[in-house]
Amino acid sequence: MSTNKPALLISACLLGEAVRYDGQAKGQAPDQQAALAERFRLIPTCPECAGGLPVPRPAAEVCGGDGAAVWQGTAQVMTADGQDVTAAFVRGAEHSLALAQQHACHLALLKANSPSCGNRQIYDGSFSGQRQPGEGVCSSLLHQHGIKIFNEAEIEELLHSVDNKI
Ligand code: SF4
Repeated sequence: MSTNKPALLISACLLGEAVRYDGQAKGQAPDQQAALAERFRLIPTCPECAGGLPVPRPAAEVCGGDGAAVWQGTAQVMTADGQDVTAAFVRGAEHSLALAQQHACHLALLKANSPSCGNRQIYDGSFSGQRQPGEGVCSSLLHQHGIKIFNEAEIEELLHSVDNKI
């Protein structure tokens, strides 16, 4: 095993850990996991669990903007029944950033559409299944610190980006 493999921060649910709000995982196909493990040191994180939220937990969405707006103080993360869980999302994102920095991660593979991990779209806060462009709370913080983020539909692009540097 090469000790020079780059570190990849990865959503724990994409590695098969049952940490999602509904108590499920979203693991990748074995061949994709093997390809990732071959090229990267995998650093799993679940920002929502790191922020102290339980499994399972109520579904939450960013209301009033996206993750960037949460960091600007103009949006909140709310559950469908009106509980403000912004502080836990912020705490978990900061924990994930510290982990990424500790392992010198410049790349991340995060679960699409999540209010924490989404990198291109998130649900729009109406709890109606509608999405809006924008990053989740953790993705926004990682992005602000120069970490390039891919989602599970972009694994080939992620692998190619590394292969092209070899
Ligand atoms: Fe997966 Fe991220 Fe949600 Fe945790 S916060 S369950 S890692 S999508």
